[in-house]
Parts: sequence; C-alpha cells; structure tokens
Amino acid sequence: MARVLAFTMEPGLLGELAAHAKRLGDAVALVPEGARVPAGVFARAYSTGAREPGAFAEALERLYTEHQPRLVVTVASKNNTTAAAILAAKHRLVMLTEALSPEIEGDTLRAKRRVLGGRAEASYTAPLPAVLSLARGSAEPLPLEPGQEPEPLEAPEPRVTLLESKEKVRESVNLETAEIVVGVGRGFRSKEDLRLAEELAQLLGGVVGASRPIVADYGWLSEDRWIGISGKKIKPKLYIAIGISGAPQHMAAAMDSKIIVAVNKDKNAPIFQYADYGVVADLYEFLPVLIKKLKERLGKG
Ligand code: FAD
Repeated sequence: MARVLAFTMEPGLLGELAAHAKRLGDAVALVPEGARVPAGVFARAYSTGAREPGAFAEALERLYTEHQPRLVVTVASKNNTTAAAILAAKHRLVMLTEALSPEIEGDTLRAKRRVLGGRAEASYTAPLPAVLSLARGSAEPLPLEPGQEPEPLEAPEPRVTLLESKEKVRESVNLETAEIVVGVGRGFRSKEDLRLAEELAQLLGGVVGASRPIVADYGWLSEDRWIGISGKKIKPKLYIAIGISGAPQHMAAAMDSKIIVAVNKDKNAPIFQYADYGVVADLYEFLPVLIKKLKERLGKG
C-alpha cells in the first residue's frame, strides 16, 4: 500500500507534481514514456506509452488496484484532469479540481480552492480515498536531475484517434492591458449587431470584450474576447458593459475596472449594483445616439 499515487500525462508538470508528492509523502508515480522523474521522491515510478486520457487512465487503474493509495494526485491540465475523473468515476471516489494545500488527516482529506475568481479561498474536507487535480503553479517545481528510471508498464490500446490538429488563429487583441473595454452580452440579438459595439470601441480607442455566451455558446467572437473567471481578467480605466446582466462569474473578472458603465434595458439587472453609471435603455436605441453624439464631439460626424 502506498499513501499517494501521483501522476501526470504532461512531462512539463513533473517537477511540480514531485514537489506535492514529496510533501504528502510515501508516493508512487505514473509518468509518460521518456519522462524524467526526480530521484529520491517516489518509492516507485512507472511509465506508460499511453497518449490519451482514456488509455492513460487504464494504466493508472492498474496501479490504483495494486497500490491501493489513500490519495491520487495530479496537476491540473486538460488531459490530467480527464484521466483523474475517469479513475474517480470508476471507483466512485470524491474528486476535487483546482485544489490547493492538500493534507491527509487520518481518513480525511483537507484541501482548499480559490473561489470568486480568486478573491477568496474555500476549505473542504472529504473522505479518503480521494482524487485531486491540483491547481497549477501551487508548488515550486523540484529539479528533475538526477533522475530516477521509471519501470515501463505495457501501454493499453488507445480508443481515441487524433485525426488532425491545427494551430489556433489568434486575434491581436489584449483585453488584460486595454484601457477602455466595451463589453457585449446576450442583449445583442445577432453577430452583425456587434458592429455597434465595435464602432463605439473604435471611437473611444478601446477594444471589444464579451460575456461567455457570446464566445462559448454563439461563437460570435473569439476566446481572446472572453471576460470572466473562465476567460480574461480586465482592469481598464473604463468598462462599458452593454446588454450584460452582471453574473458573478463575469463581474469577478471586471470589478477592478476603474469606472463601470452599464447599459441594460432591465432596471433590476444585477450589473447596476456594480456600475458607477447606469443607463436603463434599449441598447438598439441608445447606442446609435451615443455613437452619433461622440462622432459630433470628435469631429468625425
Ligand atoms: P444574460 O444573463 O442573458 O444577460 C443579458 C442581459 O441583456 C439581460 O440583463 C437583459 O436585460 C439585457 N438585455 C436584453 N436585451 C437588451 C437590449 N435590447 N438592450 C439592453 N439590454 C438588453 N460568464 C461570463 O461572462 N464569463 C465567464 O468567465 C463565465 N464563467 C462561468 C463559469 C461557470 C462555472 C458558470 C456556471 C457560468 C459562467 N459564466 C460566465 C456564465 C454566467 O453565469 C452568465 O450566464 C453569463 O455571464 C451571462 O451572460 P450575459 O450577461 O451576456 O447574458
């Protein structure tokens, strides 16, 4: 029996994983084939040639059954968290994602998580055994030299085939450093209508950002424009939020804006609680007037 089973599919996260495992003590490791494991941390280290989370989770499953650890830990990445979730689901174990500062106390796990877009920390307890996907950057990585040679495990057959991968086309907008941001939300009825916000942003020398639905559900704008806890955090001098309700997941990433102006046709919209200036109006009536007035003032009319 080992106390901890530590794993990563990403070799780049091994130093960080080793730092967590060293602190938790008595750990065995599973790493990808060819990865270098730091010496003196793991009681045993294994490697697998499995390249996708489903197949990797099968190799993990073998080690879980053999070593019966109290805790399975990884460092958060898409693949690592997916493999961890497969194992947790199979054994009906509690799983905590983006976890911080894990401690094993008897039969109990204690851990923390950042909440409210990083503005607060919540503490949790859960029964062991449990699975943890630890927040990235929450431990100083250990050096990988000198290395320990992992014992190879036979790689399970992959069930998912990668057909193609294409580099993402990135836009050159940087919301995080912008001084003026015009935010668009579901109050806009179509992608074409966003030109109103673009025109306003252009006149003010700002950039257009968006709430999650505009990017993730409708695909009207690219991910670079996404404001919120799952997107970009902004801190402009002026944030004009148009047709955005003001959900906590959006506002947590916009609250450092110096001045917030909200345009919403619902006078009870939560965004007005955060706004320095509120305009209760239909954006389709208000924006054309605002744009016209700005043009006149800037001599661009
Ligand atoms: P809605 O909530 O639908 O609001 C639209 C607003 O437009 C309404 O207030 C309405 O009164 C107003 N409106 C409608 N028509 C007009 C008009 N003609 N003129 C003026 N106003 C009008 N959201 C994010 O933005 N970023 C995140 O990172 C994010 N992360 C999330 C993470 C999790 C785990 C979860 C559960 C949710 C997350 N969300 C995030 C979603 C969030 O909870 C809200 O659902 C989302 O922000 C709502 O987007 P919205 O304000 O554009 O739309």
